[in-house]
Amino acid sequence: MKKDLEVEEIIDKENIRQRDSAIFIASENYASEAVRNYTGSILTNKYAEGYPGKRYYAGCENVDIAENLAINRGKELFECDHMNVQPHSGSQANMAVYMSLLQTGDKILSLSLDHGGHLSHGHNVNFSGKLFDIHNYYLNQDTEIIDYEQLKDVARKVQPKIIICGYSAYSRTIDFQKFKQIAKETNALLMADIAHIAGLVACKLHPSPVGVADIVTSTTHKTLRGPRGGIAIISKELSRKYDRGIFPMIQGGPIMNTILAKAVAFKEALSNDFKNYSTNIISNSKLLAKIFQEGGLRIVSGGTDNHLMLLDLRNIKINGSEAEEKLNSVGIIVNKNAIPFDPLPPNITSGIRVGTPAITTRRINEEDLSTIGDLIIQTLKTPTKNLSDIKSKVSRIMQKLPLP
Ligand SMILES: *Cc1c(COP(=O)(O)O)cnc(C)c1O
Repeated sequence: MKKDLEVEEIIDKENIRQRDSAIFIASENYASEAVRNYTGSILTNKYAEGYPGKRYYAGCENVDIAENLAINRGKELFECDHMNVQPHSGSQANMAVYMSLLQTGDKILSLSLDHGGHLSHGHNVNFSGKLFDIHNYYLNQDTEIIDYEQLKDVARKVQPKIIICGYSAYSRTIDFQKFKQIAKETNALLMADIAHIAGLVACKLHPSPVGVADIVTSTTHKTLRGPRGGIAIISKELSRKYDRGIFPMIQGGPIMNTILAKAVAFKEALSNDFKNYSTNIISNSKLLAKIFQEGGLRIVSGGTDNHLMLLDLRNIKINGSEAEEKLNSVGIIVNKNAIPFDPLPPNITSGIRVGTPAITTRRINEEDLSTIGDLIIQTLKTPTKNLSDIKSKVSRIMQKLPLP
């Protein structure tokens, strides 16, 4: 292979960044070497519009096998009857739901973005907010968890075509059965977007919405640790419509190399190793939450049941944006995040989101994780800008941990 030196330089630098920093971005992970290499396979060369056995291109005999392999492994992993593995991303998986099962202008009921929802659930800067009539439900102000009674009231009043659950910044278990009852009572479809928790759901460490929600969408690259992409699990009655919603409605040719890598990731996720990994994600998350609380930080809703938590920084007089920047300067990577009822605007915020999927892939032990937890508290609380001592402590811990 002829090396592109400019490109090599970018990759070398990114390699060092990923190796030396402590990554706590809740939506990120380190894919395995197998997932990364198969993503780069020659299947990228193939056009395959359509579905296995029903393509609009010749020469699809091998990619048909690839797509069926991904579907079959995905079905085994999530214990479902129908899966679409073609969405290019989580947002595309969601877009196909709205475009195939709703009419533009129909009502969607979703959690507000600043309470933990996702852009593609109806934010006004997103296609979903531009094309549909969006109504929101909110977290309970006292408990900071989903208020199912309030949700029921809003659903009765709004009479939405679809109710969306599943979030980007929610640290508690979602009761899909309660959502289903409310959706049923108000004649709405139920969509569960498990982009964040898919790996935990696959390992039965979070209840599964499969067989409960009408449509389940997900990414494949967050806790599931696969290639960057999306999937959808649909009930049999809606599957033909949904498949047409992906192709030909919103996508052209599927990314066959990524679909092959999804098959690889699903097989990895079926292993005992992955189950142990997912169990450790949660125990690491709970350990960090405890360290933060003992260090005087406030965790939104008082704790975590999953792979992430939100820290409310108001009592230590630093905002989310400053915290993100300060932590980044010592090699600790988190993102600023609105907290429920945040008084500050979304580009500043009062909180940060901290997640453990990536650092758990690095096989960090409890002692090192506790040390980094303490360094996070120190960094946030120290007024000085000179934090080079903390930075070297972080990179010393991270450098000894293997990368996949
Ligand atoms: C990450 C996320 C998505 C979208 O994923 P992309 O692949 O970035 O489009 C959708 N829904 C939720 C809840 C997410 O957290």
